[in-house]
Amino acid sequence: MDIAIVGSGYVGLVTGVCLAHIGHNVVCCDNNKEKIKVLLAGGMPIYEPGLDALLLKYRKAGRITFTSSIAEAAQKATVIFIAVGTPSKKNGDADLTYIENVAREVAQNMDSYKLLVEKSTVPAMTGDRIARTIRLNLPAKYKPGSKNALEFDVASNPEFLREGSAVEDFMDPDRIVIGVESKRAEQLLREIYKPLKATIVVTNLATAEMIKHASNSFLATKISFINSVSQICERVGADVEKVAEGMGYDKRIGRAFLNAGIGYGGSCFPKDVDAFVRLAEKSGYDFKILKSVREVNEDQKSWFTRHIEDKLWIVKDKVIAVWGLAFKPDTDDMRSAAALTIIEALQDEGARIQVYDPQAMPNAKKLLKGVKFCADPYAAAKGADCLLLITEWAEFKKADFAKTRDLMRQAVVFDGRNFLDAKRLRELGYEYHGIGRGGNA
Ligand code: NAD
Repeated sequence: MDIAIVGSGYVGLVTGVCLAHIGHNVVCCDNNKEKIKVLLAGGMPIYEPGLDALLLKYRKAGRITFTSSIAEAAQKATVIFIAVGTPSKKNGDADLTYIENVAREVAQNMDSYKLLVEKSTVPAMTGDRIARTIRLNLPAKYKPGSKNALEFDVASNPEFLREGSAVEDFMDPDRIVIGVESKRAEQLLREIYKPLKATIVVTNLATAEMIKHASNSFLATKISFINSVSQICERVGADVEKVAEGMGYDKRIGRAFLNAGIGYGGSCFPKDVDAFVRLAEKSGYDFKILKSVREVNEDQKSWFTRHIEDKLWIVKDKVIAVWGLAFKPDTDDMRSAAALTIIEALQDEGARIQVYDPQAMPNAKKLLKGVKFCADPYAAAKGADCLLLITEWAEFKKADFAKTRDLMRQAVVFDGRNFLDAKRLRELGYEYHGIGRGGNA
Protein backbone atom coordinates (compact mmCIF):
# COMPACT_ATOMS: atom_id res chain seq x y z
CA MET A 1 0.00 0.00 0.00
CA ASP A 2 1.13 3.58 -0.58
CA ILE A 3 1.41 5.28 2.77
CA ALA A 4 2.48 8.77 3.86
CA ILE A 5 3.70 9.64 7.33
CA VAL A 6 3.48 13.31 8.24
CA GLY A 7 5.89 14.13 11.07
CA SER A 8 9.16 12.21 11.02
CA GLY A 9 10.12 12.24 14.68
CA TYR A 10 10.46 9.38 17.17
CA VAL A 11 7.04 7.96 16.26
CA GLY A 12 6.81 8.94 12.58
CA LEU A 13 10.22 7.59 11.59
CA VAL A 14 9.78 4.32 13.43
CA THR A 15 6.29 3.89 11.92
CA GLY A 16 7.56 4.72 8.43
CA VAL A 17 10.55 2.40 8.53
CA CYS A 18 8.58 -0.46 10.08
CA LEU A 19 5.73 -0.11 7.57
CA ALA A 20 8.33 -0.31 4.78
CA HIS A 21 9.71 -3.42 6.50
CA ILE A 22 6.32 -5.15 6.38
CA GLY A 23 5.98 -4.50 2.67
CA HIS A 24 4.50 -1.03 2.10
CA ASN A 25 5.74 1.93 0.05
CA VAL A 26 6.28 4.80 2.42
CA VAL A 27 6.92 8.50 2.03
CA CYS A 28 7.96 10.28 5.24
CA CYS A 29 7.29 13.97 5.42
CA ASP A 30 8.44 16.64 7.86
CA ASN A 31 8.30 20.43 7.72
CA ASN A 32 11.67 20.59 9.49
CA LYS A 33 13.84 20.92 6.39
CA GLU A 34 17.05 20.18 8.34
CA LYS A 35 15.63 16.82 9.42
CA ILE A 36 14.65 15.91 5.86
CA LYS A 37 18.09 17.00 4.62
CA VAL A 38 19.76 14.65 7.13
CA LEU A 39 17.45 11.78 6.10
CA LEU A 40 17.93 12.40 2.37
CA ALA A 41 21.70 12.36 2.92
CA GLY A 42 21.41 8.89 4.53
CA GLY A 43 21.68 10.13 8.14
CA MET A 44 19.50 9.50 11.18
CA PRO A 45 18.22 12.51 13.21
CA ILE A 46 17.34 10.47 16.33
CA TYR A 47 18.89 7.62 18.31
CA GLU A 48 16.70 4.52 18.33
CA PRO A 49 18.33 1.07 18.48
CA GLY A 50 18.03 -0.91 15.24
CA LEU A 51 16.33 1.87 13.29
CA ASP A 52 19.29 3.01 11.18
CA ALA A 53 20.06 -0.48 9.82
CA LEU A 54 16.44 -1.00 8.76
CA LEU A 55 16.23 2.46 7.25
CA LEU A 56 19.34 1.83 5.17
CA LYS A 57 17.91 -1.44 3.87
CA TYR A 58 14.58 0.01 2.72
CA ARG A 59 16.08 3.23 1.35
CA LYS A 60 18.24 1.08 -0.87
CA ALA A 61 15.22 -1.00 -1.89
CA GLY A 62 13.38 2.24 -2.77
CA ARG A 63 10.56 1.46 -0.33
CA ILE A 64 10.98 4.59 1.77
CA THR A 65 11.51 8.17 0.59
CA PHE A 66 11.56 11.58 2.27
CA THR A 67 10.07 14.96 1.47
CA SER A 68 9.30 18.26 3.15
CA SER A 69 6.21 18.73 0.97
CA ILE A 70 2.87 17.58 2.41
CA ALA A 71 1.35 18.10 -1.05
CA GLU A 72 3.74 15.51 -2.51
CA ALA A 73 3.17 13.07 0.35
CA ALA A 74 -0.62 13.49 0.28
CA GLN A 75 -0.85 12.95 -3.46
CA LYS A 76 1.37 9.84 -3.47
CA ALA A 77 -0.50 8.02 -0.71
CA THR A 78 -3.99 6.72 0.00
CA VAL A 79 -3.39 6.42 3.73
CA ILE A 80 -1.83 9.33 5.59
CA PHE A 81 -0.63 8.84 9.16
CA ILE A 82 -0.36 12.02 11.22
CA ALA A 83 2.55 11.71 13.65
CA VAL A 84 3.30 15.34 14.52
CA GLY A 85 3.93 16.58 18.06
CA THR A 86 1.04 17.42 20.43
CA PRO A 87 2.86 19.30 23.21
CA SER A 88 1.23 20.78 26.33
CA LYS A 89 -0.06 24.31 26.47
CA LYS A 90 0.55 26.29 29.67
CA ASN A 91 -2.89 25.27 31.02
CA GLY A 92 -2.21 21.56 30.36
CA ASP A 93 -4.36 21.27 27.24
CA ALA A 94 -2.82 19.42 24.31
CA ASP A 95 -1.70 21.95 21.71
CA LEU A 96 -3.21 20.66 18.47
CA THR A 97 -1.88 23.41 16.19
CA TYR A 98 0.32 20.99 14.24
CA ILE A 99 -2.57 18.55 13.81
CA GLU A 100 -4.81 21.29 12.41
CA ASN A 101 -2.06 22.52 10.09
CA VAL A 102 -1.54 19.04 8.67
CA ALA A 103 -5.28 18.40 8.23
CA ARG A 104 -5.69 21.71 6.41
CA GLU A 105 -2.70 21.18 4.14
CA VAL A 106 -3.69 17.62 3.29
CA ALA A 107 -7.23 18.78 2.45
CA GLN A 108 -5.95 21.53 0.18
CA ASN A 109 -3.92 18.96 -1.75
CA MET A 110 -6.45 16.13 -1.99
CA ASP A 111 -7.51 14.87 -5.39
CA SER A 112 -8.79 11.40 -4.53
CA TYR A 113 -10.07 9.35 -1.55
CA LYS A 114 -7.75 9.56 1.50
CA LEU A 115 -7.75 7.94 4.90
CA LEU A 116 -6.21 10.21 7.54
CA VAL A 117 -5.00 8.33 10.59
CA GLU A 118 -4.21 9.93 13.95
CA LYS A 119 -0.99 8.35 15.20
CA SER A 120 -0.20 11.30 17.43
CA THR A 121 -1.66 11.19 20.94
CA VAL A 122 -4.70 13.48 20.90
CA PRO A 123 -7.67 14.20 23.18
CA ALA A 124 -10.92 12.38 22.50
CA MET A 125 -13.03 14.13 19.85
CA THR A 126 -10.00 15.33 17.85
CA GLY A 127 -11.07 13.03 15.00
CA ASP A 128 -14.26 15.08 14.57
CA ARG A 129 -12.22 18.29 14.43
CA ILE A 130 -9.92 16.84 11.78
CA ALA A 131 -12.87 15.75 9.65
CA ARG A 132 -14.41 19.23 9.90
CA THR A 133 -11.10 20.89 8.98
CA ILE A 134 -10.86 18.69 5.91
CA ARG A 135 -14.43 19.41 4.80
CA LEU A 136 -13.82 23.16 5.16
CA ASN A 137 -10.50 23.17 3.32
CA LEU A 138 -11.07 20.87 0.36
CA PRO A 139 -10.62 22.56 -3.03
CA ALA A 140 -13.98 24.07 -4.12
CA LYS A 141 -14.53 21.49 -6.85
CA TYR A 142 -14.26 18.62 -4.33
CA LYS A 143 -16.29 20.12 -1.47
CA PRO A 144 -19.21 18.13 0.00
CA GLY A 145 -22.36 18.69 -2.08
CA SER A 146 -20.46 19.38 -5.31
CA LYS A 147 -20.59 17.01 -8.31
CA ASN A 148 -17.08 15.67 -7.70
CA ALA A 149 -17.28 15.68 -3.88
CA LEU A 150 -14.32 13.74 -2.50
CA GLU A 151 -14.75 10.97 0.02
CA PHE A 152 -12.39 10.68 2.94
CA ASP A 153 -12.16 8.99 6.31
CA VAL A 154 -10.53 9.86 9.60
CA ALA A 155 -9.35 7.09 11.92
CA SER A 156 -7.47 6.77 15.17
CA ASN A 157 -4.57 4.35 15.53
CA PRO A 158 -2.79 5.36 18.74
CA GLU A 159 0.84 4.42 19.17
CA PHE A 160 2.06 2.49 22.20
CA LEU A 161 5.76 2.08 21.33
CA ARG A 162 8.44 2.85 23.88
CA GLU A 163 11.49 4.81 22.88
CA GLY A 164 14.52 2.56 23.21
CA SER A 165 12.64 -0.55 22.06
CA ALA A 166 10.41 1.12 19.49
CA VAL A 167 11.19 -1.14 16.52
CA GLU A 168 10.55 -4.27 18.56
CA ASP A 169 7.36 -2.77 20.03
CA PHE A 170 6.06 -1.89 16.57
CA MET A 171 6.79 -5.31 15.09
CA ASP A 172 5.44 -7.28 18.04
CA PRO A 173 2.72 -5.14 19.65
CA ASP A 174 0.57 -6.28 22.57
CA ARG A 175 -2.38 -5.03 20.50
CA ILE A 176 -3.20 -2.66 17.69
CA VAL A 177 -6.07 -0.26 18.35
CA ILE A 178 -8.08 1.00 15.41
CA GLY A 179 -10.82 3.59 15.85
CA VAL A 180 -12.94 3.90 12.71
CA GLU A 181 -16.25 5.25 11.51
CA SER A 182 -16.46 3.27 8.24
CA LYS A 183 -15.89 -0.26 6.93
CA ARG A 184 -13.56 1.10 4.25
CA ALA A 185 -11.24 2.65 6.85
CA GLU A 186 -11.28 -0.54 8.91
CA GLN A 187 -10.39 -2.68 5.91
CA LEU A 188 -7.52 -0.41 4.88
CA LEU A 189 -6.02 -0.44 8.37
CA ARG A 190 -6.50 -4.19 8.77
CA GLU A 191 -4.73 -4.68 5.42
CA ILE A 192 -1.80 -2.48 6.48
CA TYR A 193 -1.22 -4.40 9.72
CA LYS A 194 -2.01 -7.90 8.39
CA PRO A 195 1.66 -8.98 8.20
CA LEU A 196 2.11 -8.36 11.94
CA LYS A 197 -0.48 -10.99 12.88
CA ALA A 198 -1.30 -8.97 16.00
CA THR A 199 -4.49 -8.71 18.06
CA ILE A 200 -6.52 -5.88 16.60
CA VAL A 201 -9.08 -4.03 18.71
CA VAL A 202 -11.60 -2.19 16.54
CA THR A 203 -13.66 0.59 18.11
CA ASN A 204 -15.19 3.88 17.13
CA LEU A 205 -12.91 6.92 16.89
CA ALA A 206 -13.52 8.45 20.31
CA THR A 207 -13.06 5.09 22.05
CA ALA A 208 -9.66 4.55 20.41
CA GLU A 209 -8.60 8.04 21.49
CA MET A 210 -9.74 7.24 25.04
CA ILE A 211 -7.82 3.92 25.08
CA LYS A 212 -4.59 5.83 24.58
CA HIS A 213 -5.43 8.41 27.28
CA ALA A 214 -6.44 5.71 29.73
CA SER A 215 -3.43 3.46 29.03
CA ASN A 216 -0.78 6.13 29.54
CA SER A 217 -2.54 7.53 32.58
CA PHE A 218 -2.84 4.07 34.13
CA LEU A 219 0.89 3.43 33.65
CA ALA A 220 1.70 6.81 35.21
CA THR A 221 -0.58 5.85 38.10
CA LYS A 222 1.34 2.62 38.69
CA ILE A 223 4.58 4.60 38.86
CA SER A 224 3.24 7.17 41.31
CA PHE A 225 1.64 4.42 43.38
CA ILE A 226 4.89 2.52 43.85
CA ASN A 227 6.75 5.77 44.50
CA SER A 228 4.30 6.53 47.30
CA VAL A 229 4.82 3.00 48.65
CA SER A 230 8.60 3.55 48.50
CA GLN A 231 8.28 6.59 50.76
CA ILE A 232 6.64 4.46 53.46
CA CYS A 233 9.10 1.57 52.96
CA GLU A 234 11.99 3.89 53.71
CA ARG A 235 10.34 4.87 57.03
CA VAL A 236 9.25 1.42 58.25
CA GLY A 237 12.34 -0.57 57.29
CA ALA A 238 10.88 -2.37 54.24
CA ASP A 239 12.47 -2.83 50.82
CA VAL A 240 10.28 -1.53 47.97
CA GLU A 241 12.03 -3.78 45.45
CA LYS A 242 10.84 -6.86 47.34
CA VAL A 243 7.40 -5.31 47.83
CA ALA A 244 7.12 -4.81 44.05
CA GLU A 245 8.34 -8.35 43.41
CA GLY A 246 5.84 -9.77 45.85
CA MET A 247 3.00 -7.75 44.34
CA GLY A 248 4.10 -8.39 40.77
CA TYR A 249 3.61 -12.17 40.88
CA ASP A 250 -0.09 -11.49 41.28
CA LYS A 251 -1.40 -11.69 37.70
CA ARG A 252 -4.04 -9.08 38.50
CA ILE A 253 -1.27 -6.59 39.28
CA GLY A 254 1.85 -7.50 37.23
CA ARG A 255 5.43 -6.42 37.90
CA ALA A 256 5.78 -3.93 34.99
CA PHE A 257 5.84 -0.23 35.89
CA LEU A 258 6.21 -0.96 39.59
CA ASN A 259 9.72 0.49 39.64
CA ALA A 260 10.26 3.02 42.38
CA GLY A 261 12.54 5.86 41.35
CA ILE A 262 12.69 9.56 40.75
CA GLY A 263 9.37 9.76 38.92
CA TYR A 264 8.30 9.59 35.32
CA GLY A 265 9.41 12.06 32.65
CA GLY A 266 9.72 12.05 28.89
CA SER A 267 7.68 13.46 26.07
CA CYS A 268 4.50 11.45 26.79
CA PHE A 269 3.45 10.77 30.39
CA PRO A 270 3.63 14.32 31.80
CA LYS A 271 1.81 15.89 28.87
CA ASP A 272 -0.67 13.06 28.39
CA VAL A 273 -1.64 13.08 32.08
CA ASP A 274 -2.10 16.88 31.90
CA ALA A 275 -4.22 16.57 28.76
CA PHE A 276 -6.43 13.87 30.29
CA VAL A 277 -7.00 15.93 33.45
CA ARG A 278 -8.00 18.88 31.25
CA LEU A 279 -10.25 16.79 29.02
CA ALA A 280 -12.00 15.46 32.15
CA GLU A 281 -12.36 19.01 33.52
CA LYS A 282 -13.90 20.24 30.27
CA SER A 283 -16.34 17.35 30.26
CA GLY A 284 -17.38 18.25 33.83
CA TYR A 285 -15.46 15.58 35.76
CA ASP A 286 -12.83 16.23 38.41
CA PHE A 287 -10.22 13.47 37.81
CA LYS A 288 -8.86 13.46 41.38
CA ILE A 289 -6.77 10.28 41.09
CA LEU A 290 -4.87 11.60 38.12
CA LYS A 291 -4.25 14.98 39.74
CA SER A 292 -2.66 13.15 42.68
CA VAL A 293 -0.57 11.02 40.32
CA ARG A 294 0.89 14.20 38.90
CA GLU A 295 1.48 15.73 42.33
CA VAL A 296 3.19 12.58 43.66
CA ASN A 297 5.45 12.58 40.60
CA GLU A 298 6.60 16.15 41.21
CA ASP A 299 7.03 15.45 44.94
CA GLN A 300 9.21 12.44 44.19
CA LYS A 301 11.69 14.55 42.20
CA SER A 302 11.91 17.21 44.89
CA TRP A 303 12.16 14.55 47.62
CA PHE A 304 15.17 13.06 45.80
CA THR A 305 16.88 16.44 45.63
CA ARG A 306 16.15 17.18 49.31
CA HIS A 307 17.45 13.72 50.24
CA ILE A 308 20.74 14.41 48.45
CA GLU A 309 21.00 17.82 50.08
CA ASP A 310 20.38 16.31 53.50
CA LYS A 311 23.00 13.57 53.11
CA LEU A 312 25.60 15.83 51.52
CA TRP A 313 25.15 18.24 54.46
CA ILE A 314 26.70 21.20 52.64
CA VAL A 315 25.86 21.38 48.93
CA LYS A 316 27.59 24.64 48.03
CA ASP A 317 30.73 23.95 45.96
CA LYS A 318 30.29 20.18 46.19
CA VAL A 319 31.07 18.35 42.96
CA ILE A 320 28.19 16.10 41.91
CA ALA A 321 28.63 13.47 39.20
CA VAL A 322 25.55 12.55 37.19
CA TRP A 323 25.36 9.31 35.22
CA GLY A 324 22.53 9.39 32.70
CA LEU A 325 20.48 12.35 31.48
CA ALA A 326 17.93 10.94 29.01
CA PHE A 327 14.43 10.37 30.43
CA LYS A 328 15.01 6.64 30.02
CA PRO A 329 17.80 4.38 28.73
CA ASP A 330 18.43 3.64 25.03
CA THR A 331 17.22 7.00 23.80
CA ASP A 332 18.68 10.47 23.28
CA ASP A 333 15.34 12.08 24.21
CA MET A 334 15.66 14.79 26.90
CA ARG A 335 12.06 16.05 26.83
CA SER A 336 10.83 16.50 30.45
CA ALA A 337 13.72 14.35 31.70
CA ALA A 338 13.92 14.21 35.52
CA ALA A 339 17.66 14.98 35.23
CA LEU A 340 16.84 18.56 34.21
CA THR A 341 14.80 19.35 37.33
CA ILE A 342 17.23 17.63 39.69
CA ILE A 343 20.38 19.21 38.22
CA GLU A 344 18.86 22.69 38.19
CA ALA A 345 17.74 22.37 41.83
CA LEU A 346 21.24 21.30 42.91
CA GLN A 347 22.84 24.09 40.90
CA ASP A 348 20.57 26.56 42.71
CA GLU A 349 22.15 25.32 45.96
CA GLY A 350 25.63 25.97 44.54
CA ALA A 351 26.64 22.43 43.46
CA ARG A 352 29.08 21.90 40.58
CA ILE A 353 27.73 19.31 38.18
CA GLN A 354 29.69 16.89 35.98
CA VAL A 355 27.61 14.70 33.66
CA TYR A 356 27.86 11.81 31.26
CA ASP A 357 25.19 10.15 29.09
CA PRO A 358 25.95 7.68 26.27
CA GLN A 359 23.54 9.30 23.76
CA ALA A 360 21.69 12.31 25.14
CA MET A 361 24.52 14.83 25.63
CA PRO A 362 24.02 16.68 22.30
CA ASN A 363 20.34 17.29 23.20
CA ALA A 364 21.19 17.99 26.87
CA LYS A 365 23.71 20.67 25.87
CA LYS A 366 20.82 22.71 24.46
CA LEU A 367 18.97 22.56 27.81
CA LEU A 368 21.55 22.59 30.61
CA LYS A 369 23.79 25.54 31.38
CA GLY A 370 26.89 25.65 33.58
CA VAL A 371 27.34 21.88 33.53
CA LYS A 372 30.58 20.04 32.70
CA PHE A 373 29.88 17.45 29.96
CA CYS A 374 32.34 14.54 30.22
CA ALA A 375 33.56 12.00 27.68
CA ASP A 376 32.92 8.94 29.86
CA PRO A 377 31.49 7.96 33.28
CA TYR A 378 34.91 8.04 34.95
CA ALA A 379 35.67 11.59 33.82
CA ALA A 380 32.30 12.61 35.32
CA ALA A 381 33.14 10.86 38.62
CA LYS A 382 36.58 12.44 38.96
CA GLY A 383 36.84 14.50 42.14
CA ALA A 384 33.12 14.11 42.88
CA ASP A 385 31.60 14.24 46.36
CA CYS A 386 28.74 12.00 45.26
CA LEU A 387 27.44 10.18 42.24
CA LEU A 388 23.80 10.27 41.05
CA LEU A 389 22.50 7.44 38.89
CA ILE A 390 19.67 9.07 36.99
CA THR A 391 19.18 6.93 33.86
CA GLU A 392 19.60 3.16 34.00
CA TRP A 393 21.82 2.64 30.93
CA ALA A 394 23.19 -0.93 30.89
CA GLU A 395 26.78 0.32 30.68
CA PHE A 396 26.51 1.86 34.15
CA LYS A 397 25.81 -1.52 35.70
CA LYS A 398 29.04 -2.84 34.17
CA ALA A 399 31.16 0.14 35.27
CA ASP A 400 34.38 -0.45 37.21
CA PHE A 401 33.20 0.72 40.63
CA ALA A 402 36.58 0.24 42.32
CA LYS A 403 38.12 2.62 39.77
CA THR A 404 35.17 5.01 40.16
CA ARG A 405 35.55 4.99 43.96
CA ASP A 406 39.25 5.84 43.69
CA LEU A 407 38.48 8.73 41.35
CA MET A 408 35.82 10.24 43.63
CA ARG A 409 36.54 12.49 46.59
CA GLN A 410 33.82 10.79 48.63
CA ALA A 411 32.39 7.40 47.70
CA VAL A 412 28.69 8.26 48.03
CA VAL A 413 26.07 7.00 45.54
CA PHE A 414 22.42 8.03 45.13
CA ASP A 415 20.80 5.43 42.93
CA GLY A 416 17.68 7.12 41.55
CA ARG A 417 16.50 3.92 39.84
CA ASN A 418 17.44 1.18 42.32
CA PHE A 419 19.54 -0.10 39.43
CA LEU A 420 22.95 -0.75 40.91
CA ASP A 421 24.04 -3.66 43.11
CA ALA A 422 23.70 -2.07 46.55
CA LYS A 423 25.42 -4.94 48.37
CA ARG A 424 28.47 -4.90 46.11
CA LEU A 425 28.81 -1.15 46.29
CA ARG A 426 28.70 -1.25 50.10
CA GLU A 427 31.35 -3.98 50.09
CA LEU A 428 33.50 -1.68 47.95
CA GLY A 429 33.17 0.96 50.63
CA TYR A 430 30.47 3.14 49.13
CA GLU A 431 27.77 4.84 51.12
CA TYR A 432 24.77 3.70 49.02
CA HIS A 433 21.36 5.39 48.98
CA GLY A 434 18.53 3.86 46.93
CA ILE A 435 14.82 4.65 46.78
CA GLY A 436 12.58 3.10 49.42
CA ARG A 437 15.17 0.56 50.45
CA GLY A 438 14.72 0.32 54.17
CA GLY A 439 15.96 -2.49 56.38
CA ASN A 440 19.07 -4.32 55.25
CA ALA A 441 18.50 -3.72 51.51
P1 NAD B 1 8.65 14.47 17.60
O1 NAD B 1 8.72 15.86 18.06
O2 NAD B 1 9.86 13.59 17.71
O3 NAD B 1 8.19 14.44 16.07
C1 NAD B 1 7.18 15.24 15.54
C2 NAD B 1 7.61 15.71 14.16
O4 NAD B 1 6.53 16.38 13.52
C3 NAD B 1 8.77 16.71 14.20
O5 NAD B 1 9.86 16.22 13.44
C4 NAD B 1 8.17 17.99 13.58
O6 NAD B 1 9.12 18.72 12.83
C5 NAD B 1 7.06 17.41 12.71
N1 NAD B 1 6.02 18.37 12.32
C6 NAD B 1 5.38 19.28 13.09
N2 NAD B 1 4.48 19.97 12.34
C7 NAD B 1 4.55 19.47 11.09
C8 NAD B 1 3.86 19.76 9.87
N3 NAD B 1 2.92 20.71 9.80
N4 NAD B 1 4.19 19.06 8.78
C9 NAD B 1 5.13 18.10 8.83
N5 NAD B 1 5.80 17.78 9.95
C10 NAD B 1 5.51 18.45 11.07
O7 NAD B 1 7.43 13.80 18.38
P2 NAD B 1 7.21 12.24 18.70
O8 NAD B 1 7.88 11.86 19.94
O9 NAD B 1 7.45 11.46 17.46
O10 NAD B 1 5.64 12.25 19.02
C11 NAD B 1 4.67 12.44 18.01
C12 NAD B 1 3.30 12.10 18.59
O11 NAD B 1 3.25 10.73 18.97
C13 NAD B 1 2.93 12.89 19.85
O12 NAD B 1 1.55 13.14 19.84
C14 NAD B 1 3.27 11.93 20.97
O13 NAD B 1 2.50 12.16 22.12
C15 NAD B 1 2.89 10.60 20.34
N6 NAD B 1 3.60 9.45 20.90
C16 NAD B 1 4.93 9.52 21.17
C17 NAD B 1 5.60 8.42 21.67
C18 NAD B 1 7.06 8.49 21.99
O14 NAD B 1 7.56 7.59 22.67
N7 NAD B 1 7.79 9.49 21.54
C19 NAD B 1 4.90 7.22 21.89
C20 NAD B 1 3.56 7.16 21.58
C21 NAD B 1 2.90 8.29 21.09
